[in-house]
Amino acid sequence: MKSIKDVYKIGSGPSSSHTMGPQKAAILFKEKYPDLKSVKVFLYGSLAFTGKGHLTDWIIEQEFKGIDNEVIFEATKKDIKHPNTLKFIGTMNDQTTIEWTIYSIGGGDIEIEGVALDDYNSDVYKENSFNEIVDFCQKNNLTLIDYIYQNEPDLDDFLKDIWKQMKKSIANGISTKGTLPGKLNIPRKAKKLYEQGEGDEILSAYAYAVNEENSAGGIIVTAPTCGACGVLPATLKYYQEKMNLDDKIIIDALAIAGLFGAVVKKNATVSGAEAGCQAEVGVATSMAAAAGSFIHGGTLHEIEVAAEIGLEHQLGLTCDPVLGYVQVPCIQRNAVGTTKARTAFKLANNIAETEKIRFDTIVQVMYETGKDMSENYRETSLGGLAKVYLEKNKNIN
Ligand code: SF4
Repeated sequence: MKSIKDVYKIGSGPSSSHTMGPQKAAILFKEKYPDLKSVKVFLYGSLAFTGKGHLTDWIIEQEFKGIDNEVIFEATKKDIKHPNTLKFIGTMNDQTTIEWTIYSIGGGDIEIEGVALDDYNSDVYKENSFNEIVDFCQKNNLTLIDYIYQNEPDLDDFLKDIWKQMKKSIANGISTKGTLPGKLNIPRKAKKLYEQGEGDEILSAYAYAVNEENSAGGIIVTAPTCGACGVLPATLKYYQEKMNLDDKIIIDALAIAGLFGAVVKKNATVSGAEAGCQAEVGVATSMAAAAGSFIHGGTLHEIEVAAEIGLEHQLGLTCDPVLGYVQVPCIQRNAVGTTKARTAFKLANNIAETEKIRFDTIVQVMYETGKDMSENYRETSLGGLAKVYLEKNKNIN
């Protein structure tokens, strides 16, 4: 299983699979082919259906600035290997052409057909499932946090930067007024919620803050994706303040949450285009629940149960962003995710001994449910809220 560092990436919103992944591919393409004269970029599947609202064309044009470039939305092509597929056809100064087929597999990660990406391929953990992790910890008398640092001794320096950025995204979000970009004309709400609220409103304000930053193309941390970037930082910041916790506990909670994200990435997906929003906000809720349980003194088993409950009750959650923007339902969904995460860890820390379902089981169920979902509910904006809202607001498009 890969490093927890693979779960948390600092970058520009609004979408890890639709902006960060394509951006990474464009940077690699330019690095590998410095003689690039022009490039045509074809977007397929979810990238073609929601790429406009998710700013895919904008990020590609930014990265290829100075090089003749064209972005083509191929929404009709069906025989693609991954729902987020893009193709670069580059022409060099000597007129030779190079073609890359790229899969943006979620959380900012990419795979390129026929091209090895060393930084993406290395496994850090020998264990590949949560059951294996539990067995190892029990055999070796380790806590979960000892297990993580034994495998990744330099992780806490990395996580300090991640936590710094998460707090910065919250601070930026709760101090910014105005309207989010796009045709929906949605006013930012984090500042208002923060100024008027207490308790739950503050928790929601922090989630809104991060997700509004994301929607506006600001800098955020994937947790595990851009669309689901608010649940975990909001939960951590809220409990840090409420319980007067020092940063070290929060860093360790980030490590615990990241381990669950890494298990999901290994065994299923965090891509809304592959498995709907259960794979994004669902997994974020699960990670935040695990972190919450840890902060509140949860045992290894209670932490696992918190993560399991967090995901179990987000099963079936569809991805249907209105007009393809990462705004409705995404922003509010993160705020609601924080309260589900809280319920999950409070339940887990009280009734874990009788819980029947293991974390690995729920991850498998989430993935199978996602694969069974109609593509209308997997980040195409062809069904659900995206479809019905447009039917009722025909003048908006
Ligand atoms: S509905 Fe969920 S999965 Fe879809 S774009 Fe919004 S946050 Fe991402």
